[in-house]
Amino acid sequence: MNIAILSRNRNLYSTRRLVEAAQQKGHEVQVIDVLRCYMNITSMRPSIHYRGQELNGFDAVIPRIGSSVTFYGTAVVRQFEMMGVYPLNESVAITRSRDKLRSMQLLARKGIGLPVTGYAHNPDDIDDLIKEVGGAPLVIKLLEGTQGIGVVLAETTKAAESVIQAFMGLKANIMVQEFIKESGGADMRCLVIGEKVVAAMKRQGPEGEFRSNLHRGGTASLIRLTPEERSTAVRAAKIMGLNVCGVDILRSNHGPVVMEVNSSPGLEGIEKATEKDIAGMIIDFTARRATETSGRSTRTTTRGKG
Ligand code: ADP
Ligand code: MG
Repeated sequence: MNIAILSRNRNLYSTRRLVEAAQQKGHEVQVIDVLRCYMNITSMRPSIHYRGQELNGFDAVIPRIGSSVTFYGTAVVRQFEMMGVYPLNESVAITRSRDKLRSMQLLARKGIGLPVTGYAHNPDDIDDLIKEVGGAPLVIKLLEGTQGIGVVLAETTKAAESVIQAFMGLKANIMVQEFIKESGGADMRCLVIGEKVVAAMKRQGPEGEFRSNLHRGGTASLIRLTPEERSTAVRAAKIMGLNVCGVDILRSNHGPVVMEVNSSPGLEGIEKATEKDIAGMIIDFTARRATETSGRSTRTTTRGKG
């Protein structure tokens, strides 16, 4: 099988591991920088060009789209879809999961446990919004933040008001969320492939930090998920339409709550914590699904609707 990995940097741990796993399993693999792709959007013969050459002959594409290049990155994935190449995660699903508010709404609609979350546009509504999510302490987050940047804990109502006003003044899109204090600065990253949680780790923020992101100095350890947590992660992945993703769950007094679903989960933390060959599992899943779908669909795919 001929696999394209969309990644801006071939030296990143996750990219290197996927390349290694693909080669080990006898596949052809090429790392492609999405920002160097350019496209011819025609209905007859859609194509992608890369550093002066037309890209041809790929059976599957594994998108690893960084959050700073979501717009262009998903356009490239969409173009691969138009060409009939199997995408491990579809472009629409990636776009969906990048917007935290949109994700929360989709998950809420299907009854997934979530922190109480509010959203408002007008500064006049701030007081009421704070009351609506249960008052301080509360968490304020940028809709498109990542790696813990853009997530703020406001301990008092006054602090919450001024932070929300500041973000609104900057025209930043934010949401306001119940603070799950009982999780103690820890969350669980569940790595989902297909309909299974193949690995899970607990991430604990350093002393005095409520954010557990590894990029913010958090540490990873093994954890055993409850059946409810496991099924919550699988359902969340399915609702988002992602075949491979990291579902982040907090243990709250009202059961497991999903915080976010990440469409390009980092592999380093979870492979090291669990000593599992996650990259190998991703490649096997990709190859299997690409083979199955190539039997069924041609260029007139129904993928990527909306
Ligand atoms: P990012 O996309 O930047 O990782 P998250 O929404 O995942 O943003 O938040 C970052 C971290 O902050 C989480 O991993 C979690 O540890 C903590 N956190 C986020 N929201 C809450 C919340 N409502 N209650 C408690 N902790 C939270
Ligand atoms: Mg996160």
